[in-house]
Amino acid sequence: MTQTSKLVARFLPGALILAAMVPAVAQQRPFTGAAEIEQALHKLNELGTVLMIAAHPDDERTQVLAYFARGRHMRTAYLSLTRGEGGQNLIGSEQGAQLGLIRTQELLAARQIDGAEQFFTRAIDFGFTRTPAETLQKWGHDRILSDVVWVIRRYRPDVIVCGFSGTPRDGHGQHQTSAILGHEAFAAAADATRFPEQLKYVQPWRARRIVQAAGFGGAAGGGRGGRGGRGQAEAATEPALTPAGEADTGAFNPILGYSYEELAVLSRSMHHSQGTGAMRRPSGGKSEFSMVAGDASSKDLFDGIDTTWNRLPGGAAVGPILDEAIRNYEPAHPEKVIPQLIQARPVIAAIADPLARIKLAELDETIALCAGLWIEAQAREFETTPGSKLGVTATVMNRSAAQVTLESARLEGMWSGTAAKPPAKLGLNQIANLDFAVEVPAAQPYSQPYWLAKAPTADVYTVEDQTLIGLADTPPVLQLRALLTVDGTPIEVVRPVRYRYADRAQGERTRPLVVVPAVAVNLTDSAELFPAAAPRTIHVSVKANMAKAAGDLRLDVPAGWKVEPKSQPFQIAAVGEQREMMFTITPPSGEATAAMRAVATVGGREIGAGVQVISYPHIPAQTLFPPSDVKLVRSNVKVTVKKIGYIMGAGDEMPDALRQLGLDVTVLSPSDLEQGDLSRFETIVCGVRGYNVRADLRANQPRLMEYVKNGGTYIVQYQVGDSPDPNAANTPAPQLPPEIVRMIQSFQGPPNPNPVTQNLGPYPFSVPGGSKYRVTVEEAPVAFPHADSPLLQYPNHINPRDFDGWVQERGLYFAAKWDAHYQTVMSSHDPGEQALEAGELWTRYGKGIYIFTAYAWFRQLPAGVPGAYRLFANLLSAK
Ligand SMILES: [Zn+2]
Repeated sequence: MTQTSKLVARFLPGALILAAMVPAVAQQRPFTGAAEIEQALHKLNELGTVLMIAAHPDDERTQVLAYFARGRHMRTAYLSLTRGEGGQNLIGSEQGAQLGLIRTQELLAARQIDGAEQFFTRAIDFGFTRTPAETLQKWGHDRILSDVVWVIRRYRPDVIVCGFSGTPRDGHGQHQTSAILGHEAFAAAADATRFPEQLKYVQPWRARRIVQAAGFGGAAGGGRGGRGGRGQAEAATEPALTPAGEADTGAFNPILGYSYEELAVLSRSMHHSQGTGAMRRPSGGKSEFSMVAGDASSKDLFDGIDTTWNRLPGGAAVGPILDEAIRNYEPAHPEKVIPQLIQARPVIAAIADPLARIKLAELDETIALCAGLWIEAQAREFETTPGSKLGVTATVMNRSAAQVTLESARLEGMWSGTAAKPPAKLGLNQIANLDFAVEVPAAQPYSQPYWLAKAPTADVYTVEDQTLIGLADTPPVLQLRALLTVDGTPIEVVRPVRYRYADRAQGERTRPLVVVPAVAVNLTDSAELFPAAAPRTIHVSVKANMAKAAGDLRLDVPAGWKVEPKSQPFQIAAVGEQREMMFTITPPSGEATAAMRAVATVGGREIGAGVQVISYPHIPAQTLFPPSDVKLVRSNVKVTVKKIGYIMGAGDEMPDALRQLGLDVTVLSPSDLEQGDLSRFETIVCGVRGYNVRADLRANQPRLMEYVKNGGTYIVQYQVGDSPDPNAANTPAPQLPPEIVRMIQSFQGPPNPNPVTQNLGPYPFSVPGGSKYRVTVEEAPVAFPHADSPLLQYPNHINPRDFDGWVQERGLYFAAKWDAHYQTVMSSHDPGEQALEAGELWTRYGKGIYIFTAYAWFRQLPAGVPGAYRLFANLLSAK
């Protein structure tokens, strides 16, 4: 099972609690009023387009985006091949596709600040890899190349900027791949014989040049202005590159009140889940580029490119009109430029070019801004069910002296209809409210993010509608199209139907309107383990999204498995209420794996999905519908302990996974660690990154060591390693993927007096971090230098098959050096790398046992990997 196929419903209270500690960020436009209008006017008169290409959320050179979008007023976009599904989540326990959804919204929040647009391909970030070969084998070269070509043909950039070089110097294989595909797509997009099926929608497009952004993980790359990236020695080994010009990304924009470097810091700080929060610094500096292909440039990326209206046939008349609008612009009286904008409108409307159509929509929005128009479409609820009615109100208000008439208002999308009211003349401060009674079609699909609507194939999302490919977000289910006349000229403004509300703590919030099933079928775990042939009780909860929901719930299992009862009726009176139902499942006696689906039937429609809402203050709430599927695993796993204490770190699903072994698992609070009776637990387990994120855990290390001394077993899972050279903590080693570097940096402030991984056990061992000490290939062979180790023999006899079927990776942040008191257990390594012995270390200490284990149990157990369960059961049972 791949990481991304694990889309099972889980509500994550831990995530919500953690989220409450994050400072609230308003979901509002960062620049409004005079600054927004000034930007809009200049943008109307600027026809240059830039597209940046890299692999992940946070790979983008944000100051370059901010410079071109906010400083040069160009159409600017970032194409991230992936949504960052394979990374580590620093704010909650969402992983895989759910993490990708969070990162998508974080990128959109970042783009609001730097002013750029956002695109993605269908590729899924499957985790760290060293090579483009592995990356392309998993993604399929042509499939992802076709997506990059599609985005280029649709966005039509003059200049393409690659964030990486396409060489091993980029580190991560996906980084290298982003540049390799970018270079190929530059040529392929212009070639009508490549991906001709796209030509139904778009024309071939030849960008004038493709360049590479200089720097990696440093000043030009990381948004941490002022600090250099690579050292001199490193730079000297690079092949000679032809300079393509530079961008003054350190320049200050007095209209916005920030430099582009500062905007980049603010923008990157929206990536909460990756810990890229940073502070602004007084700094200047330029970003440099080198040529990859196309027409050479020397000073500026737009050398020799006409970015005025003259580039479009029939456009020459537009520039002078807009020049005049810019000259006449008075911040206190933006309505004074409306006559020029109205004068430009028919000229732009007559130009038959995709760019002119985009500019026409921008022009109408700018007229609406200058007239101070308030235009919105507000839904009465944030969610609705198929077959129900939904109230929507469109509101238009004129806040200027302009003559505004609302000619018509129409909703379109899952339902369409025009408001019945006659045209409304709106004088200063007059408001028109138009009500719509929307009938949600009975067969309306649920509002699943478009790339998750169908199961992915391997590491690529399934998207059948070509026109959706590349889009950052799912188009709204319903939108308002308002036709107005402003001083006699018709304009058209489109707004999504949303739900806007006041949160008493956080102020104004908005949620996208979503269509949800009548009931949600939610399951606790994505895999259910049957460690013996005995029956187990499975809990399924049905939550009503409509009043008076009534139906039946059944579990579909394959032959050989038995379910009692066959089905159960339910009746739920109120929206939001839920019923917990229990079924007894009897597994076959022999080892087996099966797929189970829980299905509710309501009013004749079968519902085999849960509803999960991902809610954090820095992004709009995200709703998704994970299939209510569970992997059933019948596999013999013996465990000899019962009472387990679990110290939750940055967030994982291990406690529920351990409960499937029949264990009594208690999640330990800070006060348990400080003064609770730890001796009541036979084994205590530290969750992933516990020492990185919990000061109370670091503070109570002596109590935990005392617990071991007195006879307890303490198991520590992976912790993020320390920088190889503590003195060089802020100058990341170039081989590290930038996201890891930033994560390590994020743990460095506020200053922690001792590196966290130097005091993890009773005797010293070091966890240096970096890509050298991880095993990223989930099929990597495992050797047993100490085959007689009790951890491999009792109570489960481990054999090589127990390493089959692992997901995503073997392990990360292995130890590099260890005290002679420790024994190693197994050894593994990526292809072509040296053997890593210390993914697991153990020692007796006093009467107890201490175990450090950096194998990725937090991925394997929740995925129901039987061998991983047996291995971990042996750690829990160590004696
Ligand atoms: Zn990256």
